[in-house]
Amino acid sequence: MRVLVVEDEEALRAGIAAELRGHGYTVDEASDGEEGHYFGSEFHPDVAIVDLGLPRLPGLDLIRRLRSEGHDFPILILTARGRWEEKVDGLGAGADDYVVKPFHMEELLARVNALMRRAGGWASPRLSSGPVSIDTRAQTVAVAEQPVELTAFEYRLLECLLMRTGEVVSKAELTERLYEQDFDRDSNVIEVFVGRLRRKLDPDGALQPIETLRGRGYRWRLPREGA
Ligand code: CA
Repeated sequence: MRVLVVEDEEALRAGIAAELRGHGYTVDEASDGEEGHYFGSEFHPDVAIVDLGLPRLPGLDLIRRLRSEGHDFPILILTARGRWEEKVDGLGAGADDYVVKPFHMEELLARVNALMRRAGGWASPRLSSGPVSIDTRAQTVAVAEQPVELTAFEYRLLECLLMRTGEVVSKAELTERLYEQDFDRDSNVIEVFVGRLRRKLDPDGALQPIETLRGRGYRWRLPREGA
């Protein structure tokens, strides 16, 4: 899953980005509002984290511009302590949630996770689909209650497919969701990872959770539960 971080304080931006990458997210970093607009409109993040005090284009204007152009990904704003009107203005401009500075990284991560989940239409941090369940807080996966060990990359791939249960997700889209923009984007790599994920989730081939649609992409085909 792809997160855009728009923050002009370099140390804070780097800290947030490192934390997110450590949890397997793909991160785009922008240091001003115009750059944030570029990444937001070109790379379609799953969530954007936007500081309100930004050079070149203020955070509120960035959010209004993205929304007016039809970008509907969730936006989490970073606001200064004691500035309650910032939250109201930010939410009014089209943000979905806020975190007050200074914050704990755990809180930021929990909110990013919650926004992604809600955008995917899941109400609970535990997603179940057939015998497969994932806990998005602990980032653990089980099949028929038996834990399955996945790499961070495999986990994100599974999450991308599961969040879009029943929909066809193209290889290009998965590549965009899972890699940084400067990464060598070879969509054949996705095939390898899908193969690995299938073997780990379904070693005897009884479940067939991921359908391949020739030339179109992949579809998670087990029914969603408890959404
Ligand atoms: Ca700032």
